[in-house]
Amino acid sequence: MNTRAIRAGGCVVGGGDFVVIAGPCAVESETQIMRTAEAVALRGARILRGGAFKPRTSPYSFQGLGEEGLRLLRKAGRAFGLPVVTEVMSDTLVDIVAEYADILQIGSRSMENYVLLDAVARSGKPILMKRGMTSTVEEYAAAAQFVMEHGNRNIILCERGIRTFGTATRNTCDIVAVPLLQAMTGLPVILDPSHATGRRDLIPPLACAAAAIGADGLIVEVHPDPERALSDGEQSLTFDQFENMMAGLERYLQGQSRAPACAAVG
Ligand code: PEP
Ligand code: MN
Repeated sequence: MNTRAIRAGGCVVGGGDFVVIAGPCAVESETQIMRTAEAVALRGARILRGGAFKPRTSPYSFQGLGEEGLRLLRKAGRAFGLPVVTEVMSDTLVDIVAEYADILQIGSRSMENYVLLDAVARSGKPILMKRGMTSTVEEYAAAAQFVMEHGNRNIILCERGIRTFGTATRNTCDIVAVPLLQAMTGLPVILDPSHATGRRDLIPPLACAAAAIGADGLIVEVHPDPERALSDGEQSLTFDQFENMMAGLERYLQGQSRAPACAAVG
């Protein structure tokens, strides 16, 4: 399926290529984000992720570094040639986040925040819009349509797992939503195997499934030391695990005439 090509900071998502977005759940320090940016760039990631303003289920969890996090994320992205994506949690933060980020992320908890959707639409920046964890495919497509009606067609969709009665994984990955949403909207659809599973051992197999089913890419959490991560360590890959995941994707992308996901690590 040839989805719309979305241009973001010198990179293109959609239009046939398979693009991997990688980085920590949250920007924690300059060393952490610089090391991660270098590692994921070397191993074939094309966009750097990292939260600065974090939506956390518990008020006692790390809430992110705020504007300092944005500054460090951009610095790391520029240092290693990666455009950056980070979440914007409220309409009042759109201007500041748009100053630093190449792509604005709408989190799962915000998919139905129409004031925020209007504000990001008007920012003119490309948007990575995650599926609400309790949203149907139709509701999700309608939220994307809302952003388009408000003047911004540069939207990347992301299946990140939904709430079901299953408790063995953090969320339940609705993998068939990937080709379904591509067909319904014509937009690129990527998959987030970190939030979809909550378990790092399940990330590589789900990433392969995303490649095989024709997703436009992945967004995956990677951390230099997941055991010590301030958020989502249990669903973050080490650099070595990221390298193995990238190598494992190759055979699912070959034969689809899609660009190789992985640059050789020297
Ligand atoms: C994230 O990407 O770190 C995040 C909070 O994701 P979601 O909105 O899908 O929970
Ligand atoms: Mn996370």
